[in-house]
Amino acid sequence: MFSTEFLDLPPLVGAHGSVILPGSKSISNRVLLLAALSQGITTVHDLLDSDDTRVMLAALRQIGCGVQQDGSTVVIEGLGGQLPKAAAIQLFMGNAGTAMRPLTAALAVMGGNYELSGVPRMHERPIGDLVDALRQLGCQIDYLGQDGYPPLRIGQPTLRLDEAIPVRGDVSSQFLTALLMALPLVATRDIVINVVGELISKPYIEITLNLLARFGIAVQREGWARFTIPKGSRYQSPGSIHIEADASSASYFIALGAIASGSSGKDSIKVMGVGADSIQGDIRFVEAARQMGAQITSGPNWLEISRGSWPLKAIDLDCNHIPDAAMTLAVMALYANGTTTLSNIASWRVKETDRIAAMASELRKLGATVEEGADFIRVTPPATKADWKAASIHTYDDHRVAMCFSLAAFNPAQQPVRILDPKCVAKTFPDYFEVLFSVTHATTNTIPVLCIDGPTASGKGTLAAQVAQRLGYHFLDSGALYRVTALAALRAGLSLEPQCEQAIAELARQLPVRFVGEQILLDGQDVSEAIRSEEGGMNASKVSALPAVRTALVALQHSFCQLPGLVADGRDMGTVIFPGAPLKVFLTASAQHRAERRYKQLISKGISTTIDILRADLEARDTRDSSRAVAPLKPAQDALLLDNSDLSIEKSVTMVLNWWQDKQPFKPA
Ligand code: C5P
Repeated sequence: MFSTEFLDLPPLVGAHGSVILPGSKSISNRVLLLAALSQGITTVHDLLDSDDTRVMLAALRQIGCGVQQDGSTVVIEGLGGQLPKAAAIQLFMGNAGTAMRPLTAALAVMGGNYELSGVPRMHERPIGDLVDALRQLGCQIDYLGQDGYPPLRIGQPTLRLDEAIPVRGDVSSQFLTALLMALPLVATRDIVINVVGELISKPYIEITLNLLARFGIAVQREGWARFTIPKGSRYQSPGSIHIEADASSASYFIALGAIASGSSGKDSIKVMGVGADSIQGDIRFVEAARQMGAQITSGPNWLEISRGSWPLKAIDLDCNHIPDAAMTLAVMALYANGTTTLSNIASWRVKETDRIAAMASELRKLGATVEEGADFIRVTPPATKADWKAASIHTYDDHRVAMCFSLAAFNPAQQPVRILDPKCVAKTFPDYFEVLFSVTHATTNTIPVLCIDGPTASGKGTLAAQVAQRLGYHFLDSGALYRVTALAALRAGLSLEPQCEQAIAELARQLPVRFVGEQILLDGQDVSEAIRSEEGGMNASKVSALPAVRTALVALQHSFCQLPGLVADGRDMGTVIFPGAPLKVFLTASAQHRAERRYKQLISKGISTTIDILRADLEARDTRDSSRAVAPLKPAQDALLLDNSDLSIEKSVTMVLNWWQDKQPFKPA
């Protein structure tokens, strides 16, 4: 997951490949609660691992439910509709509406002593209509902050089930879902729910009814206005249940297939885990994407998408049936041949953020003309290529804003897109950007590379690694490649002298090296420690002086230049390997400072030496490295010099990040 402050997406040009999507959030959290309320043990397969499901699982544990997790499989030991007697329990719901609403209802009808709270945004998301309905039933619920909003306190109810319960259906369908899931717990007689106002987001109610049926509850309904839970209804575990992949998450990849032109004209995106048989309403995004021009084929649990009409066709669509996925249409509208209007989306205003306002303001930053109303958004793309702007996209702690705006990186002006707070995708799709990068490509020269070099003991490795981490970029430690090459050569029985140059080069060309997190694996074996010794460094410097070895490692080094970007550390990064890199930094700490640093390092390892000896060594090595024929130690002509003698690592990192920022086209957010 990208836990950086921001993630810069370079301009993307194509997409091809197959993606496996995480499980549906709506289905995951409903299934968890239903399993918890049921009699019996339920094994849940392919559960989504995200902020929202973690919130739900934590709450279920707190209320006394048995939860055992093994990867994406979770075994829930149901409470059988009875809450264990407990003292006051405080439940933290984060910003998970799919946990807050149904838990409120279930706990309120069962009764106890609970406090439910969340992040500040959760305390701005209305819950009054659900509380009104529950109070009418005789539930005991108090507002602990502002009336109509969490946090809430739940007490012991005195239930009155004889009258039909009215619930508003035109603010959030989650209120009705919450009641539908809670009331079977107390169905000592037929319980009737009357929906007041036009029910929005009906497909989510379909999911609820479908899953209730899987757990033994056959709700009767008259249209979308009246629902009856039959007397004697009782939750029963289905034993085992699979979660479909998230259809809303699929929307980004459906859009991707429709937008990205393949290099061969036949390129396509295949989405696995959700397809024509889906019970999720957002699967109907497929129809909307087709209307805009996407070519889509499907099977029961897969979809395949490629570009059809281009530019996309502007549409005018009532999106009430696909409220979440419709956000993706708003970004597709940037690539359409006219103005797209998405209407009947008032529910956007009460989601993770006010999504109409958020989409409007971020689309405008990219150069689009946007009109917004209480329940619609109208998007006209930038008039010409020159009207597209590089934008820093604010994401409002809303996963869907972050994900759908990544598609703006396909803009014809080839402008990069900055996504602020990219980790907010964790709500439903923690690896979204990794999956995106696994199927998209940029033209190589637009993938940003930042080179960092300097003399020995200048701290370039530490600096480069930290800069890479702060930008979410890949990291190439080219010195390690020479170190590993030397080790592989010695293990193969070769000497490191020039007479073995061709044999070592041959080895280097097919070096079986892999970088896994902090580990460096040679032939699958962890050699991270082995290559870091002083001797490893000496050996590296021997093989690195052999021109054929340097040439042999070029392709491997180029292969590190992948989305979203690269920080490359080492001697010839800016001069030979990535000469076009937009930023090259050359560290120039004084020999005295470097000797002192190395001294501290060695002393801490228990190796005794003196600063003077080290300084003499360093100076000798500088002279040798600077005067050697191949890849001598010298700054690239366009390198910026950074004397970090008196700078902490953090200050040096900030300095380099500021230089990097100066080269970016983004205006402050
Ligand atoms: O950076 P590190 O200390 O791991 O590098 C080990 C040696 O490998 C250096 O002293 C240098 O001689 C060589 N090297 C090189 N070109 C690179 C990286 C390292 O010649 N790009």
